[in-house]
Amino acid sequence: MSEYPWHCRFCDREQTVSGEGWQASVVDLTAVNADGPRRLVVQFVVCPNPDCRKLSLSAALHDLKVVGNRSYTGKLIRTWPLVPPSSARSFSATVPAHILEDYHEACLAIEQSPKASAALSRRCLSGMLRDFWQVQPGSLSDEFRQVRGTVDPLTWEAIESVRKNGMIGARMESEGAEILDTEPGEAKMLIGLIETLIVDWYVGREERRKRLKDIRQITGEDAAEKAGEE
Ligand SMILES: [Zn+2]
Repeated sequence: MSEYPWHCRFCDREQTVSGEGWQASVVDLTAVNADGPRRLVVQFVVCPNPDCRKLSLSAALHDLKVVGNRSYTGKLIRTWPLVPPSSARSFSATVPAHILEDYHEACLAIEQSPKASAALSRRCLSGMLRDFWQVQPGSLSDEFRQVRGTVDPLTWEAIESVRKNGMIGARMESEGAEILDTEPGEAKMLIGLIETLIVDWYVGREERRKRLKDIRQITGEDAAEKAGEE
């Protein structure tokens, strides 16, 4: 197996995986059944980042093509992320547990129930607005309106692109946890917005704090050096 690009969900970094970090095994179902021959591919990837080295495990079900006494991997039918259990990202910032929990559950539910996933995402977005911006509780749309003009213009554009997206805009008028019909694409869009806002708000704040601390350390050292010279 040659090298290929891969995104680690544990350290949230783009990586290049080579042969030794990748192991896969194949199980073929050849017994006569209602669906036809099937191939399951189980795959391990070990993150090459020396500070991470976490294993990821996934399974993929394919059609099995049998020609004579040879068999081939056919069309992909379904994939399952096993470890980590969903496509949820990890973030390099402290985010309140109830917000992360809603986000992780929204990611877990997306395949089985986009409707439940979107409801969790709306509650998560509302939780972020109340925690990070201390907005007054209201409809999600109203809560977003309260931070207009306060949030970074590019962040507001990301929010607007989801708000203006037809049905989602209307759905945001309702209370966060209400269950409404949702397409898988809409549910994914809400998860994408949560990820953007966590990075812009929580990760951004932590990075600004770190830079400030670095500056203070430098200026503090400068002051100490000057004191030593005198
Ligand atoms: Zn990693």
